Amino acid sequence: SPELARAESLIASIPDYPQPGILFRDIMPLLADARALRATTAALIEPFAGSFDIVAGIEARGFILAGAAAIAAGVGFAPIRKAGKLPRPAAAVDYALEYGTATVEMHDDLPTGTRVLLIDDVLATGGTLAAGRQIVERLGYHVAGISVLFEIDGLGGREAIGDLHTVFHSA
Ligand code: IMP
Repeated sequence: SPELARAESLIASIPDYPQPGILFRDIMPLLADARALRATTAALIEPFAGSFDIVAGIEARGFILAGAAAIAAGVGFAPIRKAGKLPRPAAAVDYALEYGTATVEMHDDLPTGTRVLLIDDVLATGGTLAAGRQIVERLGYHVAGISVLFEIDGLGGREAIGDLHTVFHSA
């Protein structure tokens, strides 16, 4: 749609950030634009309408889109956080980064079988979303779908995650 094409044009590409050789996709200009934020939020949830009970977002930029998506869909929001931030009983999943490992955590107090729509901003290698999916499943919830604003092609994310919905992807 023209609205989505306009939104896509607001994603900036920043060379050599955070390291030389990395082309960083910066979604902040899109988030700052009301029409673009509305159109992309709708596009993130559209294929999954009626099929999820809650939206989970991955810290930190995933929170922004997941919160917007939850309000747009009329459901609640659940955070998947970096290690050590959650106040109540939570599960933890470790995953590989380019150098070293990281951990995500999620509270264990949703009803068994809760249908979770998992949202993040950018898909690169897929490690982050794979960990997000693993923690949702480990807690006995159901992954209703995975939706990402921007997929970077050629880094293996699609292969790692399999079935997912992406609004934009790198050319
Ligand atoms: P992955 O785990 O390699 O798929 O990396 C995805 C995670 O890193 C997401 O949570 C993103 O927020 C972040 N990320 C990776 N590359 C970019 C980028 O170019 N722009 C913004 N975030 C990125």
